[in-house]
Amino acid sequence: MLFADVILPLPLPKLLTYAVPDEWAGRMTAGIRVEVTVGKKNYTGLTRRVHDHVPEGYAVKPIVALLDERPTVNEKQLQYWEQLADYYLCSVGEVMKAALPTGLRTSFTPLVETRVRLHPSITSEAQLHDRLDTLKRAVNQEALLVRYLSLADGIRFDRPHEAPKKWLARDASETAALAACIKRNIFEQVTCEVGRLDLSATATRELPALSDAQQQAHNEIAALFDARKVALLHGVTASGKTEIYIHLIAEQLRRGRQALYLLPEIALTTQIIERLQSVFGAAVGVYHSKYNDNERAEIYRAVPSLYRVILGVRSALFLPFDNLGLILVDEEHETTYKQFDPAPRYHARDAATMLAQQHDAAVLLGTATPSIESFYNACTGKYGLVTLTERYHRAPLPKTEVVDMLHARKKQRTDGVFSQHLLEAISGALIRGEQVILFQNRRGYSPYVQCADCGHIPHCRQCSVSLTCHRQGQALVCHYCGASQPLAAACPECHSPQMQTKGFGTEKAEDMLQIHFPQARITRLDLDAARTKQAYTRILGDFAQRRIDILVGTQMLTKGLDFDNVTLVGILDADTLLNFPDFRAHERSFQLMTQVSGRAGRQQQQGRVIIQTAQSGSRIIQLVRRNDYRALFESQLIERREFHFPPYSRLISITLKHPSNDVLKQAARQLRTLLIPAMGARLTGPFQPSVQYIQGRHLLCFWLRLERNAKAAGLKKHLAEQIRAVGKQKGLSGVEITIDVDPA
Ligand code: ADP
Ligand code: ZN
Ligand code: ZN
Repeated sequence: MLFADVILPLPLPKLLTYAVPDEWAGRMTAGIRVEVTVGKKNYTGLTRRVHDHVPEGYAVKPIVALLDERPTVNEKQLQYWEQLADYYLCSVGEVMKAALPTGLRTSFTPLVETRVRLHPSITSEAQLHDRLDTLKRAVNQEALLVRYLSLADGIRFDRPHEAPKKWLARDASETAALAACIKRNIFEQVTCEVGRLDLSATATRELPALSDAQQQAHNEIAALFDARKVALLHGVTASGKTEIYIHLIAEQLRRGRQALYLLPEIALTTQIIERLQSVFGAAVGVYHSKYNDNERAEIYRAVPSLYRVILGVRSALFLPFDNLGLILVDEEHETTYKQFDPAPRYHARDAATMLAQQHDAAVLLGTATPSIESFYNACTGKYGLVTLTERYHRAPLPKTEVVDMLHARKKQRTDGVFSQHLLEAISGALIRGEQVILFQNRRGYSPYVQCADCGHIPHCRQCSVSLTCHRQGQALVCHYCGASQPLAAACPECHSPQMQTKGFGTEKAEDMLQIHFPQARITRLDLDAARTKQAYTRILGDFAQRRIDILVGTQMLTKGLDFDNVTLVGILDADTLLNFPDFRAHERSFQLMTQVSGRAGRQQQQGRVIIQTAQSGSRIIQLVRRNDYRALFESQLIERREFHFPPYSRLISITLKHPSNDVLKQAARQLRTLLIPAMGARLTGPFQPSVQYIQGRHLLCFWLRLERNAKAAGLKKHLAEQIRAVGKQKGLSGVEITIDVDPA
């Protein structure tokens, strides 16, 4: 009797074992999808191993159905899942949920279509002419054959072209003609599984020749790859990193290996995809979450056979690569590489290096503003560092000016959003026909509203945060739970009609701009304006085509976008970035400001960046102005060492959630008692996070700081066990406890 251990998409600490019915014993291997029963429900699971050890202590259920002939997941992938589950302290089933597209987790239903091809009895040119002769007076049938031949674009008798039936039989008379041709053995019909995959891209350009600086960087990277080292490419914005990536990918393809190109966000794939397809044609596949379930399942299936280059977001790490030679992690500093919810809470950059080990593949991290962790790894010799300090063609880096908003306010040289200095610069750019990007890190009209009479600020009922005012929907919206309510004219507390908007978001900036520049074409780019991928692509397309003069937006526009006519970038309120309560706040604000500045003047002209701030003396602002990453890095290291934050420790955050504050506190006390003996001073907490209450549940947090050595693995295991123990205690089972390893 054979048994199979099955991975299920559930947070179970162990795999469940099922009996393999005899008739399937011969086909059973690891990586096959099976249907099994858990309790009263059926699930699609995946076999991990097949063995003959009779499980003890319970009645083994049989596997209900076998869903695959061949494994859907290969051995390398299975090992990778286990490695991630170990590292990020979650179950393999949770990794499976993230890894397998939904279309594969339910049953796979391929789309089929009917196609028409030349009848197999026709094996030569002469026979074809004979059949054509029989059609002499059947005009419609003859026309059909001619159309088929033109679609086929040359005839092969051994493997005749298959034309979709819908292209040949477009109306009743064509349908009748086709039926007649089939009867005369000119055509036959076949049913085919079709991909909706677009394989029509063709290469249109040669590999670009690299500049001397690029070639030098390329060679250094190649040497690091040979030495089996992760390479960190620190190159200023527009230094031509992407062109270097393209060369490295081409080299992998020549060796018959695959390349994975990771981007932090779907939004960015649009610009890069064209650059890749123009060189690699249909070998390029794109993978991200905006595709529907079936599309993702099809791309998954196509990876080993069709696609040699995959461009994707973090989930692309889970595709069934069979011979991966290179992983590129572009914009490696981006926090969107980290999955917050649900588990596995993995960071794609680190998960990429684990995947690369499986395949003995090279890893390149690229960025203009490295994360402190990566740069530290490069300084300590764990990674190799490659630097590009010049823009391609020596285009000058932008010149950065700082506007002191306190001073501007005193002199009445601002309307609350724009300083006169910035307005004059915008006006100048518009007159010269140049484009402008304005960055404000808050969406909505204003971050909150307040009663001028009693001071009341409307808050969310479910969360301990104030509501953001959105003018578009005339609503107050919670940015944590999404709840929204109409914007009331009177104060709900004192009924005063003096409800005032406070501060400003992208909507207000857009409104004010339209007043200052009524002729300008202004568009907003934030989560609200670009809910769909289409909307996002359209806005960027319009901007690239110069149908938009000014783009106002959030972080969405800071990322590697490349527009050659942008000469001015404005950062409307740097203070919101500087005052963020997080140990990474300064690192983040430097990165954001440097990245958004990098959008200015990418070609020959020198660009101009204007930063508005009430903290013009801030050190971070000075460093951005000088583009001095090194100084930022060194000052951050001193702080991180003093407070024992990464890279000097491995941080794990533990969050407890429950509707009752009392139950929550009790659970936190329990957990602390259980952990303290082994963890000691490594554990801090419980403490309240800055938002203490979300969606009707209170929150408490712990931090665990582990040494960066072998001991960490044992302590992590201990942590996971104790958390399970708390969940089993009477009255505490409803407390949700999440573990985040290396929180971003
Ligand atoms: P980065 O990725 O560092 O921001 P890009 O690769 O996007 O930089 O390069 C910036 C600009 O310079 C792009 O418009 C790109 O097409 C151009 N460029 C870079 N390298 C080359 C090259 N070797 N040949 C021609 N154009 C290049
Ligand atoms: Zn009031
Ligand atoms: Zn809320």
